[in-house]
Amino acid sequence: MTKLRLAIVGAGPAGIYAADILLKVERSFEVSIDLFEHLPAPYGLVRYGVAPDHPRIKGVIGALREVLDRGDIRLFGNVRFGEHITLDDLKRHYNAVIFATGAVRDAELAIPGIDAAGSFGAADFVSWFDGHPDVPRSWTLDSASVGVVGNGNVALDIARILAKHAVDLLPTEVPDNVYDVLASSPVTDVHVFGRRGPAQVKFTPLELRELGELRDVDMVVYDEDFDYDEASKAAVASNKQVKVIDRVLQEWRTRPGANGSAGSASRRLHLHFWARPVEVRTDAHGRVAALVYERTRPDGSGSVVGTGELREVPMGQLYRAVGYFGSPLPGVPFDDRHGVIPNHEGQVLRADSNERMPGVYATGWIKRGPVGLIGHTKSDAMETIQHLVNDQGSWWQPEDPSEDAIPALLAARGVAWTDLEGWHRLDAHEIELGAPQGRARVKVVPRDEMVRISRD
Ligand SMILES: Cc1cc2nc3c(=O)[nH]c(=O)nc-3n(C[C@H](O)[C@H](O)[C@H](O)COP(=O)(O)OP(=O)(O)OC[C@H]3O[C@@H](n4cnc5c(N)ncnc54)[C@H](O)[C@@H]3O)c2cc1C
Repeated sequence: MTKLRLAIVGAGPAGIYAADILLKVERSFEVSIDLFEHLPAPYGLVRYGVAPDHPRIKGVIGALREVLDRGDIRLFGNVRFGEHITLDDLKRHYNAVIFATGAVRDAELAIPGIDAAGSFGAADFVSWFDGHPDVPRSWTLDSASVGVVGNGNVALDIARILAKHAVDLLPTEVPDNVYDVLASSPVTDVHVFGRRGPAQVKFTPLELRELGELRDVDMVVYDEDFDYDEASKAAVASNKQVKVIDRVLQEWRTRPGANGSAGSASRRLHLHFWARPVEVRTDAHGRVAALVYERTRPDGSGSVVGTGELREVPMGQLYRAVGYFGSPLPGVPFDDRHGVIPNHEGQVLRADSNERMPGVYATGWIKRGPVGLIGHTKSDAMETIQHLVNDQGSWWQPEDPSEDAIPALLAARGVAWTDLEGWHRLDAHEIELGAPQGRARVKVVPRDEMVRISRD
């Protein structure tokens, strides 16, 4: 029976679901899968993106773990494609590769002053509060007023973490150094800006409703934002999700604190709609001092136009959550405009000619861009795997498909890779660290320590 030796690069949900689906799908060949992951721990953004106070979503890790634990996938953690292993290596030892490397950079927000001190991308902050090993462990919160640009779930995550009292994060897996910074936070007002109206937001009802339940935080919405045009009214009437969002916001209009009136909480989370950021004002030291935005209005077709009216909100820090962006991989085609690997339903295409690149596939956020929930990566993977199975005739013919070749190659290159057993060891260690305090886990953050515990 023919055997497919498959390399998957990226052990986030997309890579793991792809492995799972391939192992279960009807096929006429045997499969052996090696999963390469740049971090010493698997699960991608589920571990390093989903906020620590969303344990239900973090729970997806349980299902992903079951896939890895089945015993027919080899994990090579702490191995970076492009640095420790190349496309030529993979061609030499496998029949095909699936790239599932996600998108971890911030998309740009091109307005004057955006590079000022105190202006951050969402990915920087999220990686910090989720204990990503490759970002600095320190973070400074030094201002009562902060801004968040964006109207998606990531913007709400950031606003929530900034507004929430740290003690309410304690039972979660929030890293100790993050807790310490949040516990002494001077933040009292978090301002969230979206360039469209309440009926056009990208966040989901559950995430919005959660803000209204934060202890000692007043939700501040402004009546002027709810003068709906016909398109907004139609959206509220016809779309269940928009209807729920509208209902939540309408209730907040009646709460103390609405329209900036006196509320009862020590912290406030303001939602500014119809607000297009145009400039970050800085102080004499080049630090963020205010965000200038232009009021927008609906253009009748679901989009917005500027009204010319400029407003300014003083703040000491600004966080932009305007989307993530994929990163190019050495030797692999890349679409600079959309931040993805060019592909047709997961079959990778050459950048110059749009022709198929046999043996090379993509799935997840690096395939279709950084939108959608974890569950969407499953349907992505199904499509990609279907092509991989159907393309049997065009797979690579490797020189050395032996299972020993990759460990030997990594060892020869001095790579301290971690395996599944090592990950179990680290996982158990983190859970053990958290147990005495009744916490889900205490994450080990420094990469060398993660590797040391895994390889112990
Ligand atoms: C801040 C944030 C919060 C989110 N919250 C939620 C939520 O609450 N609920 C929800 O359903 N979805 C949420 N999402 C979306 C969800 O995280 C994504 O849908 C999902 O993670 C995408 O999966 P992926 O496998 O394509 O990418 P990723 O999860 O990013 O996984 C990619 C993996 O590839 C690895 N990798 C990258 N480059 C290399 C390389 N060169 N060599 C080897 N490995 C490499 C990375 O280290 C990573 O482990 C959130 C996203 C973000 C950004």
